[in-house]
Amino acid sequence: MDTLTHWIAGEPVESASGRFSPVHNPATGEQIARTALATTEEVDRAVAVATEAAASWRATSLSGRTQVMFRFRDLVDANRDLLAETLTREHGKVLSDSMGEINRGLENIEYACGVPQLLKGEYSEQAATNLDVYSIRQPLGVVAGITPFNFPTMVPMWMFPNAIACGNAFILKPSEKDPSTSLIMARLLQEAGLPDGVFNIIQGDKVAVDAILEHPGIAAVSFVGSTPIARYVYETGTRAGKRVQALGGAKNHMVVLPDADLDMAADAAVSAAYGSAGERCMAISVLVAVGGIGDDLIEAIKSRIPDVKVGDGTDPESEMGPLITREHCERVGSYLDHGRSEGATVVVDGREQSFDSGGFFLGASLIDDVTTEMKVYADEIFGPVLSVVRVDTYEEALALINDNHYGNGTAIYTRDGGAARQFQFDVEAGMVGINVPIPVPVAYYSFGGWNDSLFGDLHMYGPDGIRFYTRTKVVTSRWPDPATSRVDLGFPQTN
Ligand code: NAD
Repeated sequence: MDTLTHWIAGEPVESASGRFSPVHNPATGEQIARTALATTEEVDRAVAVATEAAASWRATSLSGRTQVMFRFRDLVDANRDLLAETLTREHGKVLSDSMGEINRGLENIEYACGVPQLLKGEYSEQAATNLDVYSIRQPLGVVAGITPFNFPTMVPMWMFPNAIACGNAFILKPSEKDPSTSLIMARLLQEAGLPDGVFNIIQGDKVAVDAILEHPGIAAVSFVGSTPIARYVYETGTRAGKRVQALGGAKNHMVVLPDADLDMAADAAVSAAYGSAGERCMAISVLVAVGGIGDDLIEAIKSRIPDVKVGDGTDPESEMGPLITREHCERVGSYLDHGRSEGATVVVDGREQSFDSGGFFLGASLIDDVTTEMKVYADEIFGPVLSVVRVDTYEEALALINDNHYGNGTAIYTRDGGAARQFQFDVEAGMVGINVPIPVPVAYYSFGGWNDSLFGDLHMYGPDGIRFYTRTKVVTSRWPDPATSRVDLGFPQTN
């Protein structure tokens, strides 16, 4: 069985820990590999290597760094099939979805190719007589990324292309559940000409994460994962003096106003709730039916569920794959029992669909009459379970979202431009879709939620990504005639 290794100083490195975590093919239930789990000393080694590499990488010209990014972009493009097949084998999502993930990752590399433009500073000539002031953006040094299982290729690409293009060295700690595509990316970066040591991978669990958070040689940490761990990473990392951005979980509401096209809204709800088996932080998990449309909307969604083809992600016919592990699959399924016992109506129970592959499959599920006190509403389920909450008015729908402790994405379906604009103004969430169910920002904006969906000040990738991975230096400069020099104890004036 393959053992997935670290990647340090441009080569695979075995772990001495003797600890491993299993990697499954979720479509068959088979264990297909194991991930080495790092020791603290292995993190120390990666930081030492990255520190040395960062010193010369930051001195590499902007055009030199850009050329590496362009070559990397082309190599990822040329290796899409390999990346997508590897991703589907370990994660389970269908191949077309893996391709979609890689495409969105590529957009982030393309953004990083524009780094010379993005790092331009400001210049004020003659800020005072014969005195100029200018600002420059410099890299932080060694930065780290800790990523979740659900986008093992795209989420690292939200981080490292910008970090590296800005002149930092990067240490990635991928999810231990599906780390193989990160190793492919490491090889492609090397092939693109990135000097060894600028990009490193540490495989691991809490031991590796804690070593990263405490290490004095790491200046900043980007994290994406569940809210409890995001909070922990933010608190621990900032206490250790680091810059931290930690993106957490979500409960994304899609509001359907009575004037919406119900077929379009039902298509969107089914796509956004069940795509990638609901294992997306931007998945719609709560549908808010406003006014008297509840029955018709539920009927429209229910009628579409039998057509969702659930199966092995490598089968081109499949539209929805399995969940990541058996435990997670069972946990997600158990919410249908919680819902029933708390008084909700289980309209479709995905456990009634039978699958004979041994994989971690659960059919698309639908729960009606959900209220805010119920566990199915309160928890992030992270699976193909859509809850429907019925309300009478727009105001009630809005209050539902704004009272929720998450604030990642949200969407509204309506034909009324005024209502949509009001929603955009009123709603407390970081990303809003107007007739767009999964409003993941393009790479030249930044991604991030509000409230318990993000800890930190800056969102991820795009302009905020460049700000996160650099620090600003302001230079005040003059070239006076030494003959005019004199002692002056007064505070500098801008005359
Ligand atoms: P997770 O929080 O379990 O794991 C994320 C990372 O943290 C992994 O690398 C993991 O090894 C590490 N980790 C896990 N437990 C830890 C612990 N106790 N101490 C230190 N590190 C630990 O998340 P996951 O299950 O891999 O991913 C799913 C979650 O990620 C969902 O909650 C989803 O909403 C969220 N997510 C959020 C976004 C976003 O942009 N906001 C994007 C993708 C996923």
